[in-house]
Amino acid sequence: MNILIVYAHPDAHSLNAALKDFAVARLQGAGHTVRVSDLYAMEWNATLQAAEIPEQVHHRADILREQEKLLWADTVIFQFPLWWFSMPAIMKGWVERVYTYGFGYGVGEHSDVRWGDRYGEGTLAGKRAMLMVTAGGWEPHYSPRGINGAIEDLLFPIHHGILYFPGMAVLPPFLVYRTGTMDEARFAAVREQLGQRLDTLATTAPIPFRQQNGGDYQIPEMTLKEDIAPGRSGFAAHLV
Ligand code: FAD
Repeated sequence: MNILIVYAHPDAHSLNAALKDFAVARLQGAGHTVRVSDLYAMEWNATLQAAEIPEQVHHRADILREQEKLLWADTVIFQFPLWWFSMPAIMKGWVERVYTYGFGYGVGEHSDVRWGDRYGEGTLAGKRAMLMVTAGGWEPHYSPRGINGAIEDLLFPIHHGILYFPGMAVLPPFLVYRTGTMDEARFAAVREQLGQRLDTLATTAPIPFRQQNGGDYQIPEMTLKEDIAPGRSGFAAHLV
């Protein structure tokens, strides 16, 4: 497989850097071709400017390079430390600039009967994606009744809104909690768990998000039909 790792951490000696290096070696060892977009090392310009927003804009070379990598990849891994309950700003800026009109959104027929190719369809359909996230907080803090909110809910805007929206199948995330307690023994265990996830990228079942054009939503409201998940609302209602 062709695998792209979009990676955001400023410190080459961080835990994230060590996990990224491990992932690259593991994937290459399994025969995959790996490319890494190391956003800090690339000094990625994260600021979307007014001149880049128009639909007919001539895209800059840095954007076209990242789009080419996405089209090349069979699987895309987004790796980052959880910062303020989301991805670091540099990665959000990567999404904002790389997901241009006609690439990340504005794809397919938009009419009374069809609201484009998105949520399961689109430019990146057929590809797989997975988040690799480290967090300082404890796992129970991110459990369904945990103070921080359930991790599935916190990651929903990324999983559903950034990965599934342009068509990618989204695998369950690889999560490392309580990073402050990392020592050699725990790091070895984390590597082992990560290795297993990387070995099964092609076979792991994706999160079963509902396809926009799969018949569960009414057009043009884009709300779930009354007989679909009756009485349920919120993020979980969009899971089959
Ligand atoms: P590092 O700080 O590099 O390392 C973490 C630990 O791993 C250290 O003990 C280090 O010694 C050890 N380690 C590093 N490399 C190795 C190695 N090769 N082998 C063995 N051990 C190693 N956390 C939350 O839960 N929620 C938040 O919303 C949140 N927001 C944050 C916002 C900001 C701006 C910042 C700076 C942090 C935030 N955090 C939050 C904490 C953050 O998620 C963690 O600090 C981060 O995930 C740790 O990853 P790192 O790569 O930076 O680890």
